Amino acid sequence: MSTKNGTNQARTSRDVGSELIYLTKALKAPALRDAAARLAERARDEGWSHEEYLAACLQREVAARDSHGAEGRIRAARFPSRKSLEDFDFDHQRSVKREVIAHLGTLDFVAGKENVIFLGPPGTGKTHLATGLGIRACQAGHRVAFGTAAQWVTRLAEAHQAGRLSDELTRLGRIPLIVVDEVGYIPFEPEAANLFFQFISGRYERASVIVTSNKPFGRWGEVFGDDTVAAAMIDRLVHHAEVISLKGDSYRMRGRDLGRVPAANSGE
Ligand code: ADP
Ligand code: MG
Repeated sequence: MSTKNGTNQARTSRDVGSELIYLTKALKAPALRDAAARLAERARDEGWSHEEYLAACLQREVAARDSHGAEGRIRAARFPSRKSLEDFDFDHQRSVKREVIAHLGTLDFVAGKENVIFLGPPGTGKTHLATGLGIRACQAGHRVAFGTAAQWVTRLAEAHQAGRLSDELTRLGRIPLIVVDEVGYIPFEPEAANLFFQFISGRYERASVIVTSNKPFGRWGEVFGDDTVAAAMIDRLVHHAEVISLKGDSYRMRGRDLGRVPAANSGE
């Protein structure tokens, strides 16, 4: 009798085992599959309820997904391309200190709700560094959203027109890191400047922004069409911020002797 029961039980748990393999595969839940049998043993030893066991299994899967969610966060952030801090050549770009970027890479600035501003001419690595920091943040579990200043303004203007600007600002305020790339490439209309100011002010000491601009602060009056608005914006942005000024020629032009007449015997 006891032998028969034992055999039945063994077969049943084998069946359940293969059923679990099938089901967790269908759910794409490998962490759940790996944990199920071990947790069942503990549940039996410790007399867990069915609900407690289910919660423990699901917790394993959720934890695994959180740590592996970086890829999803990177895609959701909509970076224009994948650039990493590791790929940045500090020997080429001498005006930015490796240690400064390494420190930013620890993401203390996100925890501290501080900002980072990259200023400098085109091609000097502003978008690369902003993206590299954004990807780091995604990998560390933070939600990130990337857009050019023009894209953010379009998004805010659409929300404003639809009468849901404050909802949109609240929603964006919950994203711990937002990248605003290319401030200054296109001058803002007064309406856009005002929306943008609300956006930045709303994040003040609440969440971080990385801003890049090809214009030094002294020329932001032109960008925002108004010196007072520009000054208020700069004030909000830099109060808790690392401001990094990049210098030099475009990285894309490296190795080309711009403006130099090739020597007759250079063979080019
Ligand atoms: P910016 O945003 O300042 O105009 P980007 O960051 O877009 O410049 O840089 C232009 C291109 O050159 C990108 O492909 C970027 O990855 C590359 N680049 C710029 N500076 C460096 C650098 N110091 N090391 C490696 N790649 C760089
Ligand atoms: Mg750029």
